[in-house]
Amino acid sequence: MRQYSRRISPHFYEHEFACKCCGQIGDKKQLMILVARLEMLRSKFNKPIKVISGYRCSNHNNKVDGAKKSQHMLTQAADIMVDGISPQKIAKLAHGIFNGIGVYDSFTHVDTRAIRASWDGTTKKDKEDVSDKRDTKPSAEKSLPEVKESIKDAKDTKEERKTSRSTKVSGKESKKEKG
Ligand SMILES: [Zn+2]
Ligand SMILES: [Zn+2]
Repeated sequence: MRQYSRRISPHFYEHEFACKCCGQIGDKKQLMILVARLEMLRSKFNKPIKVISGYRCSNHNNKVDGAKKSQHMLTQAADIMVDGISPQKIAKLAHGIFNGIGVYDSFTHVDTRAIRASWDGTTKKDKEDVSDKRDTKPSAEKSLPEVKESIKDAKDTKEERKTSRSTKVSGKESKKEKG
């Protein structure tokens, strides 16, 4: 029935990564690389990964005021959630699998860029655990343009979650999310 419900890996379907506005998936080769990495990540906790944002076409990216060079436009990025695992924890597990990792309040952005970049896109003011982790070279891995991009990502995602609620009916997982 669904045009994009083709299974592309043991645990992922093509439609999960399709652009919310037009259903395109962009670069299929990149999608397969992305999905292979997501499978590697998934194997660390063996729970379903919800993809809340995958590919974005340039129209959609413009519409949501996304970064000009968003990894989402290259089919190299996914914003993901896992029930019962915090975005911070997912980010930790994603190290060594994904080069681009951004932590947000309710999801984790991962992408397959060539050069490592990680950032904190959360909005909470008290970041008490930052001081505990001085030994992890906090600033070396950060890249400012990415931070900018991901704040826009977050905006985008909020909008997308609204729409994905109505399009994605996945049995038991119809947990109610506000936002
Ligand atoms: Zn689109
Ligand atoms: Zn993202």
